[in-house]
Amino acid sequence: MNTWRVGSVRVTRIEEQLGVGGFSPENFLLGFDREVFRKLLPVFPNHYSAEKDRLVSSMHSWLLRVGGKRILIDACCGNHKERPWMPRFHQLNTRFMENLRDAGAAPEDIDIVMCTHLHSDHVGWNTRLENGRWVPTFPNARYVYSDKEDAAFNPARAAGLDPNRAIVYNDSVLPVVQAGQAQVLSDGIHELAAGLVVEPSPGHTPGHVALKLEDGGQRGLFCGDALHHAVQVFRPDWNSAFCMDPDQARITRRSLLSHCADQNALLFPAHFAAPYVAAIHREGEGFGLRFVPATAP
Ligand SMILES: [Zn+2]
Repeated sequence: MNTWRVGSVRVTRIEEQLGVGGFSPENFLLGFDREVFRKLLPVFPNHYSAEKDRLVSSMHSWLLRVGGKRILIDACCGNHKERPWMPRFHQLNTRFMENLRDAGAAPEDIDIVMCTHLHSDHVGWNTRLENGRWVPTFPNARYVYSDKEDAAFNPARAAGLDPNRAIVYNDSVLPVVQAGQAQVLSDGIHELAAGLVVEPSPGHTPGHVALKLEDGGQRGLFCGDALHHAVQVFRPDWNSAFCMDPDQARITRRSLLSHCADQNALLFPAHFAAPYVAAIHREGEGFGLRFVPATAP
């Protein structure tokens, strides 16, 4: 069971990997409070390994069929990518493409790949290795991301960029640019398909975007890495260690959670563990959640 519905739109989770991360909870979530976490853990028992004392997270893409188009939101880590600084992303050989085929989509069927941001675990499957070269995985897709994000992670534009970020850009973004398949969005709101809107959601990265879906009176929100872990619903001020602008990340997180609570929008995060998708309500100073299991294969 890996498909949810928002109105008539089917949203399918395409798994790349599910497991523990490499950081202790304190090192991954800044402000982490063990006592608070222990009390909340019964709400999201699959999101923590007590044995390893690590948060559990998922790497997955969301496959949507909107207005006759097949759209992939985020592109995980990819196979064979050289990421020695991040063992969980390094030289992978996962079944992601088989999982995508099992969901009914061949690579040539994908019309749009939407990268919420350009971190390595969101652009990996943009490209695949062919005869020693990185080529677009999805030959008929346009690859969409924001110009602000490009300015932050394109080594030709970002002075002093971390060399590891440049490696990611060069093997996972530049090849789709060179193939003429990149579509870079100006800052602002854009309709990607009927009822599917891209909005700036900065903080985790400068050009991070979220997607709001509305169909048949129902709503969904794809929040990328504005949230990483379910505990951040209850404690929206706890940032990940990778949020580049901490104050803005908190503002954006609260804003997106408010949208979900006020508009009854299902939250589709990029990294929550099972059951992956949640309905959000206001609770205390933050928010609460009710997980919504998948309804179809
Ligand atoms: Zn991520």
